[in-house]
Amino acid sequence: MLNGLLFQGFCWYLPADSRHWRRLINMAPELKEIGVTGIWLPPAYKGTSVFDTGYSAYDLYDIGEFRQKDTIPTKYGTATELQQLVAVMHESGIRVYADVVLNHKAGADETERFMAVPVDPKDRTVEIGEPREIEGWTKFTFPGRGDKYSQFKWTFEHFAAIDFDQATGQTGVFRIVGENKGFGMAVDPEYGNYDYLMHADIDTSHPDVIRELYNWAEWYLSRFDFDGMRLDAVKHIDEPFMLGFIEEMRKRVKSDIYVVGEYWTADIERMRQYLDNVHYHMQLFDVALHFNFERAANEGSAFDLREVFDNTLVQVNPLNVVTFVDNHDSQPGQALESFVADWFKPLAYALILLRRDGYPCLFYGDYYGIAGGEGLADVLRPLLLARKERAYGPEKDYFFDKNAIAFVREGDLKYPHSGLVCILSTGAENSVYIELGADRFGQTWYDMTGNRSEQLVLDEKGGADFTVNGRTVSVWTEKNC
Ligand code: CA
Repeated sequence: MLNGLLFQGFCWYLPADSRHWRRLINMAPELKEIGVTGIWLPPAYKGTSVFDTGYSAYDLYDIGEFRQKDTIPTKYGTATELQQLVAVMHESGIRVYADVVLNHKAGADETERFMAVPVDPKDRTVEIGEPREIEGWTKFTFPGRGDKYSQFKWTFEHFAAIDFDQATGQTGVFRIVGENKGFGMAVDPEYGNYDYLMHADIDTSHPDVIRELYNWAEWYLSRFDFDGMRLDAVKHIDEPFMLGFIEEMRKRVKSDIYVVGEYWTADIERMRQYLDNVHYHMQLFDVALHFNFERAANEGSAFDLREVFDNTLVQVNPLNVVTFVDNHDSQPGQALESFVADWFKPLAYALILLRRDGYPCLFYGDYYGIAGGEGLADVLRPLLLARKERAYGPEKDYFFDKNAIAFVREGDLKYPHSGLVCILSTGAENSVYIELGADRFGQTWYDMTGNRSEQLVLDEKGGADFTVNGRTVSVWTEKNC
């Protein structure tokens, strides 16, 4: 099987032209060519308007099918186009993963009056006032869809907290009061209890909510023939619910549904604990590695490149990890802004694409550009092809300098001409002598990236001095024509 490659098929600032599903359909041949084996799509359901990315989810059953929020299509297109997109991707051998937002709902149709208690936003375990009646946007009746697909209507009992009292205009974190109500106990401990993130926070301990979300996900995954899920904001969702949800979908839909969770933290111990708590039923994005990349890019030659994998998830838990460089949340202007500087991007991509461990994710914004800017497709393409064709076999590290590291993939007979030497520098031009074995004696090797133009003839030990220019990467491999 070819090396897997996940593609994040969107960035934050796509035009709200409802043409994105069609754009992706047109991109399918190129994605296949660069070695993409799975695509992660943005949340496909109706958000608060046609401009909504889908993360402010309004109606999970409206995939651009009903006139709601002043539009039939979503920001990305219609339900029919999404079905076509999935079919086209499948024909191209690309699996399709749905983005699933289960933490909150936004854009309620009506307000309701109910009892709530304000809690300290910095420590949600501390009440900062008496329980009082507030008026909250918690009633979802979906007038544009009616009862099609589901008759379920959401009311305040199905939520744990909101952030706005319509009656007084007061903002804050209001925990909804009632029998068996409260924040989920198994959530991220930041702010005392990080169950509440935004909008109307779904109470995932309510039996009717659990039933409805199970039914919805079964409908959604089956109707669009998705192969997996990217679970949004899992650090804010009660762990037992998340575990039960995945187990239920594997029972009801497909036993091998792929799942990756977004747990935004660089705390490796917390991530390991989370994976254990959800019985390793999902992978997690390696946020810690992303932050190492950001730091390396910002610090340049002051950063010790030999430590780039230190305290990362891929280092401690290589089987349950999606590695990435940037995403829609880390891009400039977004909540988790921590963008890896452009000069370091090729180095970072080499470090996720060409190594043995991790399921790497290529970000749409890096490849095609964000907000009308130019992407790095030309620079990344050789690295992507190197992953597809050459990055096989055992791995050996030569982390020989604070500002220069190299690693070898020894190759695999199943992939002709596979095997490579990847060398990176964050300082000046550098080189290292590496032996690849006598069986490679006489082979001619070249740099796939084109950064170095010389060709190397391997000596009787299959060795050569492999060179990299300053502040870039070279990928040396056998020339086969
Ligand atoms: Ca929550």
